[in-house]
Amino acid sequence: MIEVDARGVVEFTQALVRVPSTNDPARGRDERPAAELVAAKMREWGWEPHVQEAAPGRPNVVAVVEGGGGEGPTLMFEGHTDVVTEGDLSEWTVDPFGGEIRDGRLWGRGSADMKSGLAATLYATRALQLAGPFPGRIKVCALADEEGLMIGAHHFVAEGLAADVDGAIVAEPEAGEICAVAKGALRLRVDLTGKMAHGAMPRHGRNPVPAAASLVAALETLEKELQDRHPAHEHLGEVYVTPTVVRAGSEEQVNVIPAVASVFVDVRTIPGVDHQEIAGRVGALAARDGIIAEVSILVDRPPVDVPVDDPVVAALAAAHRAVTGQEPVYGGVPGSTDGTVLTHWGGVPSVVYGPGGKWIAHQADEYVEVAEIVRCTRVFAEAARRFLTGDLS
Ligand SMILES: [Zn+2]
Repeated sequence: MIEVDARGVVEFTQALVRVPSTNDPARGRDERPAAELVAAKMREWGWEPHVQEAAPGRPNVVAVVEGGGGEGPTLMFEGHTDVVTEGDLSEWTVDPFGGEIRDGRLWGRGSADMKSGLAATLYATRALQLAGPFPGRIKVCALADEEGLMIGAHHFVAEGLAADVDGAIVAEPEAGEICAVAKGALRLRVDLTGKMAHGAMPRHGRNPVPAAASLVAALETLEKELQDRHPAHEHLGEVYVTPTVVRAGSEEQVNVIPAVASVFVDVRTIPGVDHQEIAGRVGALAARDGIIAEVSILVDRPPVDVPVDDPVVAALAAAHRAVTGQEPVYGGVPGSTDGTVLTHWGGVPSVVYGPGGKWIAHQADEYVEVAEIVRCTRVFAEAARRFLTGDLS
């Protein structure tokens, strides 16, 4: 087994939690302090991190660690440096940025999602490097803005940095499950435009409100049809088509037929479901005489479906078995991650695996088990060795 610096990885996680790197640009806060800490650690080890701004003040940090052991593939370790805001402080019983260790747990915002995972990728790579030469190389990436629009991952792909990557391990908290599949997300805005009129003379206008109501009702039928056509995925569950925002008129003008009504729809998909087709179907459902329906795609993140026998998944599974002595458990990511961007737009097979519970992310009193950080670092080091040497058994 590759020896890892157990104390170092835990202390570095604490240090990362202690720098607030909340994704809250409106209040002048972002991932920069965490990105700087990561870059400093890389330099301390003699790596040469490239810091690239995905947007002004939003740095991606990427270091390529050559194995020096001849030709081989390129493995990418990915983590994000931003965290969601701490939310209502009164719900916390610990300092969200204290990085305190108590009862075998490391507490704070980002402890699970995903500063421990990010620290584990760095320390795993360092451990493999210290263990001797290895074939190929590891690209260690700390990207910006995962919790926002994923501009870090998109920039990484747009810069061509994914082109030479053969497989990516994304260190999101998945409670030790190996997640090679992720649900897709499609967010739509439907604007229904009619004609404004006085409520006393409705025939003079064209009211988009009944059209909005019909659309909302029809979405339920569409969801049922999609669920019938695409049976629930074993790790991802069902397709959902959920109207989340309905907007029209104003309380101050109950006597006015509004010109426009808008319906926002949150669609969650599984492999095999086509996003363009759904957007088209929603547009068709919205169409009504005298009303102009316009569908805008706000977010389009397709589902991820990497086969379990892909080398990066197989290497991780073999490493999990070797380090923990337990059979790997396969799962699915309920939302999207940077892995979605890497796989769909970068063409890189990705798998998500990391320390911390699936459901603790974004909550008050977020924590990660200290032992899990160390175990995961060992699994990452072993997975990298296996992926790069082709030892997938
Ligand atoms: Zn995350």
